[in-house]
Amino acid sequence: MPDREYRFHFKSGRPSIDFVTTVGERWRRSFERLREPADLGRWFVEAGVLSEPPAVSEKLLGEARVLREAIYRTAKLAGEGVPAPADLAEINRWAVRPALAPQLDPRLELRWEAEDPAPAALATLARDAVDLISGPLASRVKECASDDCALLFVDLSRPGRRRWCSMDGCGNRAKTSSYRRRRKEASR
Ligand SMILES: [Zn+2]
Repeated sequence: MPDREYRFHFKSGRPSIDFVTTVGERWRRSFERLREPADLGRWFVEAGVLSEPPAVSEKLLGEARVLREAIYRTAKLAGEGVPAPADLAEINRWAVRPALAPQLDPRLELRWEAEDPAPAALATLARDAVDLISGPLASRVKECASDDCALLFVDLSRPGRRRWCSMDGCGNRAKTSSYRRRRKEASR
């Protein structure tokens, strides 16, 4: 598979939902973007959760994937339906652990730190999921409307009618193809 397929996406509006998109093409082949422990460390940095890649063990990567899938299934209910008790237990198990703490660095900028940064970063993601899923935006967790995309995103638009994961990607493609369709119909 080309390298670009393994690129991370950060356009959902929430870190816990961006984390869910580390599985690519859930609608079709579901491939793993967190292939090795270092990928998770890199994700934390690219997501802005940590400033340096932490040490990640193979075991922690496995746990991160389990947490991710629990968040995926629960967030996808969009505030409706019955969550799986095992998924709630999984999210809660992480949310109760020590999360990253805000710290000031010498330039008076914010850094997120913890004694053990990788598990703390997962706890932070779990807490973000708890906050999202229990809050007013739970019903705004949506799946991209494009046929060939299943990225989850949080619709932060005021009317709540956003349909695509991004306007410059899927949204633009959908507009172009409906324009082409209309032109074809008009020329018949
Ligand atoms: Zn999309």
